[in-house]
Amino acid sequence: MAEVDRTFASPPRRPLVAAVVLVVLALVAFLGIADVQPPSPRPATIAAGEFSAARAFEHVQRIGQEVHVTGSPAADRVREYIVATLTGYGLRPEVQDTVGVNAGKFGSGSMAHVRNVVAVLPGTASTGQVALMAHYDSVQVSYGANDDGAGSSTLLEVARALTQGGAAKPRNDVVFVFTDAEEACLCGAEAFVSRHPLGQKPSVVLNFEARGSSGPAVMFQTSAGNADLIDVYARTPRPVGTSLAVEVYRLLSNDTDFTPVLAQTRFTGLNTAYIDGSSVYHSPMDRPSTMDRASLQHHGDEALALTREFGRADLPPLMKPAAGDAVYFPFAGLLVRYPAALTWPLAILALLAVAALVFLARRRGLTSVPRTLSGLGLALVPLVGAAVAAQLLWALLVAIRPGYGELLDPARPTWLRFGVVALSAAIVLCWYSFSRRKVGPVPLATGALTLLALLGILFAAAIPGGSYLVALPALFGALAGIGALYARPALAKVGILTAGAAVSTLILAPTVALFFPALGLATGAAAAMLAMLLGLAGLPVLEPLFRAPTAPRHRRLGAAPALGALVLAVVCTTTGMVVGSWDAGHPEPTHLMYALDKDTGTAEWVSLERSPGEWTSRYVHGHQRLNRQFPVLPEGELSVGPAQAADLAAPKATVLSDETAGDRRTLHLHIASQRDVRFLSFYGPVGDHRVVSATVEGREAVTYITAQDRFGVVFNGPSAAGLDVTLVLTGAGAFPLRLVDGSDGLTALPGFTPRPATVGVFGSHSSELLAVATTQTL
Ligand SMILES: [Zn+2]
Repeated sequence: MAEVDRTFASPPRRPLVAAVVLVVLALVAFLGIADVQPPSPRPATIAAGEFSAARAFEHVQRIGQEVHVTGSPAADRVREYIVATLTGYGLRPEVQDTVGVNAGKFGSGSMAHVRNVVAVLPGTASTGQVALMAHYDSVQVSYGANDDGAGSSTLLEVARALTQGGAAKPRNDVVFVFTDAEEACLCGAEAFVSRHPLGQKPSVVLNFEARGSSGPAVMFQTSAGNADLIDVYARTPRPVGTSLAVEVYRLLSNDTDFTPVLAQTRFTGLNTAYIDGSSVYHSPMDRPSTMDRASLQHHGDEALALTREFGRADLPPLMKPAAGDAVYFPFAGLLVRYPAALTWPLAILALLAVAALVFLARRRGLTSVPRTLSGLGLALVPLVGAAVAAQLLWALLVAIRPGYGELLDPARPTWLRFGVVALSAAIVLCWYSFSRRKVGPVPLATGALTLLALLGILFAAAIPGGSYLVALPALFGALAGIGALYARPALAKVGILTAGAAVSTLILAPTVALFFPALGLATGAAAAMLAMLLGLAGLPVLEPLFRAPTAPRHRRLGAAPALGALVLAVVCTTTGMVVGSWDAGHPEPTHLMYALDKDTGTAEWVSLERSPGEWTSRYVHGHQRLNRQFPVLPEGELSVGPAQAADLAAPKATVLSDETAGDRRTLHLHIASQRDVRFLSFYGPVGDHRVVSATVEGREAVTYITAQDRFGVVFNGPSAAGLDVTLVLTGAGAFPLRLVDGSDGLTALPGFTPRPATVGVFGSHSSELLAVATTQTL
C-alpha cells in the first residue's frame, strides 16, 4: 500500500534535493545582498565628468584632519578650505553668517552662531533650483571624517565634476549648501531655510549624511508625496532605498539637516546616508582612516546622477509633492516601485491567494481550515522566538563584554550578524521538525503564509511602506504552492516552490542585510524577525531536509538540521567575540563628563553609562539627578562621583539696562563666558518670573521648554565677546538666572588620568563635556 504524500513535494533523494535547493537559495540571497552593496571606489584617473572616491577622499582627509566643532578655529579652517576649493572651480561661494534657532532639539531652545557656505552654479535655462546639502561641522569629540566629511566631500567632488567635467552645464540652478551647527542644533540648515534668499525659493533638496563608516548609501527619507522623486531616484546607477526605511527612520532618534528642510512645504527632496560601521559615529574614531571609500563612491555616484537628472528635468512639478507616495524596494539589482495606492489591493490579493491555496490543498486532503489555523498560531512561535533569542544573545554578549552595552553595534559585527541569522535558522528548523509531526508540513506552510498575509494587511494599515515585505512573499509563496499542487513530477514541484522562495529571498534578504546596520545588534530582534519571515515563507523547501514521517529514524534525524544551525550559530558568535575584542583601533567606549557648580564650590564626575565599566568606575560610583543644577545634562538619574573643584571661571551676566513698564520688566544683558567654550546657556524659572520674550544676538529665542518647565537657551559657538540678550519678564523682584557654559576635554582637570589605548570615548553630544555653572540674581 502506497503511503499518502502529505507534503507539497516529496522528491526522491530528499537530502540531495534539499542541499541543492538550499545552495540555490543561498546564492540568490548572496546576489540579492550583493546588489545593495556599495560600488568599488574609483581612482583619480577616471574621466573628469565622473565622480571619483579617490579625488573626494582628498577632501575627506582635509576636513577630517581635526575635530571641527561649530565655532572652533578648526571649523573656520574647514570652511576656508571649502570656500577655496569652490572658488578654484570657478564658483563664487559666499558665507552666510547669522544665527540659527532650533526649538525642538534636546528639549531646549537651541541656537547657534552659524556660517554656512553657499555657492550657486547658475542653470543654462533654469526652471528651478536643486540644492545639495551636507554639514561641515563635527560633533565635539569627533573628527567628523564620515559625519559629515563624506557629505561635504561629495558636494565638493560633484561641484568639480559639474564645473570641470567638460559636459554641458545643468539647465537648472544647482546650489551647494555646506551647513554649520548641524550637530549642535540643525541651526545651519534652519538659518538657510529661514534667512537665506536662496532658501526662500522652492527647491528639490538632496541631503547627504553618514551615521557610521561603511555600507551602502541608503536613501532613507523623502518628502511627502514622493512618487515623482522616486522615479528620478530609480534612474541612479545603484539605488538602495526602501519605502520601509522611511517608516523605520521615524522610530530612530536621529535627526538631520533634512528635518528643518521638510518643515517647509516649499521643498521636496531626498535624504541619503550610509549607516554601517556605526560604532565610530560621533566618536573620536570617526577619522578618514575608518572610512570605507566604497561608501563615499556610492554617495557620490548617487549625488552626481541625481544632480544631473534634476538638473535637466522640468523642475516645477518635482518641487511640489506628487499625488502620492511610492512603494519601492531593491530587487535583483532593480528598484521596484509602484504607487502606494496599490498597497491595499496587493495585501488583499495576497490574502486571497493564500485562501485559494488553503482551499485547493484542503480538497486534496493536505490540510484543513482548523489545521491551517493551528499552523498560523504555531508560526508565531519561531517569529517571537527569533526576536527573543536575538535580544537574549545580545544581553549575553553585553554581559561578556560590558562596553557593548553603550553601542548600537560592535565595531566588527559581521560574524555576530551571521550568528543571529544562524540562531534564527536553528529556531525555525527545531520548531519545524517538531511541528511537522504534529500538524503536518502543509498546514504549517499554509498557516505561515496566512500569518504573512495577515501581517501584510496589518502593515498596510500601520506602516504602508513596509507592507510589501510580507504581502509579496505571501502572494508568491501561495502562487508557488498552488503551482506545486498541480505540477508533476515531484522535482518540478520542488522547482516551483524554490522559485517562489527565491522571490521571497530577493525581497527579504537585502532588507535583512540593511536592517542589521540600521537598528544594530542591540536591536537584533528586528533583523532576526525579518530573517524569520523569510524562513516562514520558505517552509515547503525546508521539508526535504527532513525524512518522511514513515521513514526509519525520522525522529532522531529530524533534530540534525537544527543542531547543525545551532553549531553554526555558536561558531559564528564565538568567532565574532574573538575578533571583536577591544584594541587601540577599536577601543572600548566610555563616557565621562565634569560639572562644576561655582556657587557651592563643588564638582562632580558624571557619566551616561548606566552601569559604568571598569575605567569609568574610577570616577563615578553613585547616582544623582543633576538636571536642575545643570540643565544641559540629561534628566533622570546619572552616574556620578565627587571630583576636585577646578579653578575655572563661571560665565557672567552684566545688566546693561533694566526697565519696568506696567507689569513688564525688560532686562538688557550682556552674557559672556570667561573661558574658551563651545556653548553658553542660561535658564530661568517659570511662574512669577515668566519670560515673555527673549532675544539673543538679534533672534527671537524659544521662551519656554515644555519638557523642563522652565525658560532656557543653549547658544552654540558664541564669540569670545559674549551674547547680547534681551529678556522681557513678568513680575517684579529678583530674577535668578542660571548660567552654564561648556567646553570639551577633561585632560587638564585635577584628578583626571588619560585613558589607556584600548579605552576610548563614546560617541555622544556630551562626551568629555566640562560644564561650569553659577546663579546670578538680577
Ligand atoms: Zn551628521
